[in-house]
Amino acid sequence: MSASSQDRASAPPESHSTDFDANAMRERYVAEREKRLRPEGNEQYVEVTGQFAHYVDDPYVDHETQRDPLSDEVDVLIVGGGFGGLQAGARLRDAGVRDIRIIEKGGDFGGTWYWNRYPGAQCDVESYIYLPLLEELGYIPTEKYACAKEILEYSQAIGRHYDLYDRALFQTEVTHMRWDDAISRWIISTNRDDEIRARFVAMANGPLNRPKLPGIPGIRDYKGHTFHTSRWDYDYTGGDPEGNLHRLADKRVAVIGTGATAIQCVPFLGQTAEQLFVFQRTPSSVDVRGNSPTDPQWADALEPGWHKQRMENFNGLVSGVPQPEDLVDDGWTDLIGKMVTRFKDATAAGNVDVPKIMEMANFDKMNEIRSRVDALVDDPLVAEKLKPYYQMFCKRPTFNDDYLPAFNRKNVHLIDTDGKGVDRITETGLVVAGVEYEVDCIIFATGFEVGTAYARRAGYEIAGRNGITLGDKWSEGMSSLHGIQSRGFPNCFLMHMNQAAFTANFPHLLEELTTHIAHIIGQTIESGSKTVEVAEAAEKAWVETILEKGLGAMGALGSNECTPGYYNNEGQPNPESARWAPYGGGSIEFFELLANWRSEGSFAGLEFKK
Ligand code: NDP
Repeated sequence: MSASSQDRASAPPESHSTDFDANAMRERYVAEREKRLRPEGNEQYVEVTGQFAHYVDDPYVDHETQRDPLSDEVDVLIVGGGFGGLQAGARLRDAGVRDIRIIEKGGDFGGTWYWNRYPGAQCDVESYIYLPLLEELGYIPTEKYACAKEILEYSQAIGRHYDLYDRALFQTEVTHMRWDDAISRWIISTNRDDEIRARFVAMANGPLNRPKLPGIPGIRDYKGHTFHTSRWDYDYTGGDPEGNLHRLADKRVAVIGTGATAIQCVPFLGQTAEQLFVFQRTPSSVDVRGNSPTDPQWADALEPGWHKQRMENFNGLVSGVPQPEDLVDDGWTDLIGKMVTRFKDATAAGNVDVPKIMEMANFDKMNEIRSRVDALVDDPLVAEKLKPYYQMFCKRPTFNDDYLPAFNRKNVHLIDTDGKGVDRITETGLVVAGVEYEVDCIIFATGFEVGTAYARRAGYEIAGRNGITLGDKWSEGMSSLHGIQSRGFPNCFLMHMNQAAFTANFPHLLEELTTHIAHIIGQTIESGSKTVEVAEAAEKAWVETILEKGLGAMGALGSNECTPGYYNNEGQPNPESARWAPYGGGSIEFFELLANWRSEGSFAGLEFKK
């Protein structure tokens, strides 16, 4: 990229004129949604099993570690060695629990940062709030948005700091988990023939861990090379996460998908591939990244407690709650600034219609995003195709200074499918609107399973009391207390957003959940109880609360203006979705609710049995 386009990319977008036709914009948003709705909804994707199972092989280890099957007993077994598992391990250690085992499919800690090593991978929420346990480890990320390698190494540092390596089982997958009432233990089986008894289990599988493929007709026929972005094939591309994909110099490469992952890797592919074809169904909003190295003076001046304070400041702003200052000050928090400005203007004019103000602020933001495309992309026809027409947060917002200018390169071609997706895959290429694009390699940047059955995503079933599985129990909708515990599954803890909370900064949610889980496990051990389980009435009441509160801010994502995607079950919210929703009062209220529940001290709604 030339110096001038780099300057344009990292400059804040021009403040756009607010003189636009809101009705026309609303109609355009609805039209963009309608043309993307597919009757098959989430069924359009292909599961990575059978012929596609190799898409989830681990390319980052050269051999499987040999070890004998294990048969032992632990206090707490954690499934998953990503941030969730590490944070749970840390908080359990803080609560004095020593006997912990972590089972992890990958060859090391890191979770999503173990798997996602594609070129350009970088956290897109500020690293000073995204990385957990920074004060505990005394670590400050080197950049405002740290790269995947640094985050992976930091994950390993958490493992060392909390002494979690010794009893971690890597390259191991749980295959089944069942509760044995006679001994009050969970029995965990693995693909390495282990049989582990655990007093407590904590599920830290991650929300986006199972890659998915598009069910494009002909996907089975393609004879060229393929891989999914979460298992990057550096043997094929050459280079490393910093780029220099030199083996692509004589290759025609296709990328399917233009979500947050593609936005980060496309600039690197564009630099080296002989030809790059980017197949787009729905454009992402691409805002300024503006990454910068950490200022050591700023870091030195941080006072104890800064990390939580910063996380809460960000969470307040992205939840629409004005804060005295915007500590993070980036594209995530910018929308609230626009809302506040609009709010002040409306108040001065004596007209405070909050939903309208929010909608208009959202139009302002998206107008800015669209004018940024014009500013960065030379060909006006290509620029038009790259403009997103939906409300911010319908599709995950992205932030990048190199993605849009990549389309100014002669070897980079945007193949816009007008919302329809790729029509067909042949033995040699991809077909859109009757034109075949022959390629040597297809890279699937098509994301991860969301909204499919728990056992399908986790890879194992959890059988609770009387052999009833979580899948059976939740077949007509989820049922839990705080999203964390479910009756019939004693001593079992879940970590996810469902019936818990939605946050843009997922590790913040994990921090609150793991603190809560460690508190309950600590109490169970301290009180000499064998089991802790949700009381029937408490679970019923929580489900009612979830339904009463509705989808809250998340509701907008299912609205008539939102294009389909994984945020809204591909545009098909069904009555059951309401039971899977995060707490509609928002994450701030939910975190307070958990904290108040803990400080009240009676462990309300839980039954402890000795
Ligand atoms: P996404 O699910 O966000 O994107 C998948 C893409 O594939 C979409 O653009 C989708 O289009 C497209 N697609 C699906 N089927 C077809 C088809 N048949 N033809 C053409 N295109 C198709 O996956 P990502 O891996 O990009 O991101 C997943 C999530 O991971 C993000 O939302 C974010 O939460 C997280 N992430 C976080 C990062 C970070 O830095 N913290 C970085 C990267 C990802 P459509 O939109 O029309 O469905």
